[in-house]
Amino acid sequence: MSKDDFIRLEGVGKIYRAAAGSPPALAEIDLCVAEGEFVALMGPSGSGKSTLLTILGAMNEPTCGRVLVDAIDVYGLTDEKRADFRHEYLGFVFQQQHLLPYLSAVENIELPLAVADLSSREKRARAVAALARVGLEGKEHRLPSELSGGEQARVAIARAVVNEPPLVVADEPTGNLDSATGHTVMAMLAKLNMAGHTVLVVTHDETIAAKAGRIIRLRDGHVVDDSGRHSESSRGGVAPEPVEAHER
Ligand code: ADP
Ligand code: MG
Repeated sequence: MSKDDFIRLEGVGKIYRAAAGSPPALAEIDLCVAEGEFVALMGPSGSGKSTLLTILGAMNEPTCGRVLVDAIDVYGLTDEKRADFRHEYLGFVFQQQHLLPYLSAVENIELPLAVADLSSREKRARAVAALARVGLEGKEHRLPSELSGGEQARVAIARAVVNEPPLVVADEPTGNLDSATGHTVMAMLAKLNMAGHTVLVVTHDETIAAKAGRIIRLRDGHVVDDSGRHSESSRGGVAPEPVEAHER
């Protein structure tokens, strides 16, 4: 039942106010991503990758164009409805994982459930299950400072998916990690993709990007290459590696 235009960008551009007069951060781009795709976004620093992800993520209003996710006009929503949309549809993983240092792994993962209509017992059960999904069972009560960089990245992924969002976006989640640990994190994202999440990930590492079925390359706010678009191979076609295989 996958939809070929689960994400649809129509003439989406962005000019930051501070940068008025300079070229747009994002030119007017058209793009579709099918439900269940696994997409890597690549491009030099400043090419518009984060701008594109945050626009998709309902947290950065474009200057022009329309963003449709599951046929919902994301920026046509009121702020309140857009926040609800973000909560229901999106899981974010940032390069700086934004884990709260004074909360344990499982407490960090529970954060997105704060407003959910669930008992605290149920919230804890979901957070524990999400941690297990990223291969960190037994580390529930560790503080971020008691986890390796790769483990922190995995906690951030668990937190992004504890709500079971259909769409997971990750902005350079492997950027601060050595390449072996980066591959482990990418394997986690591949596993989520296999489980049905649509995944978009920004990375600078070609070998990591090659694990995605589709690579979109940006330069100066333009899409300059889009390989594997809408191919079957980009849809849940990536075999996840054994989780512990590369962990240091
Ligand atoms: P990337 O993630 O590919 O490095 P970005 O999307 O962060 O690129 O940035 C694209 C362009 O937009 C860059 O020229 C950057 O300086 C500019 N930019 C990004 N965010 C802002 C902002 N909040 N205000 C002004 N300019 C910005
Ligand atoms: Mg960026």
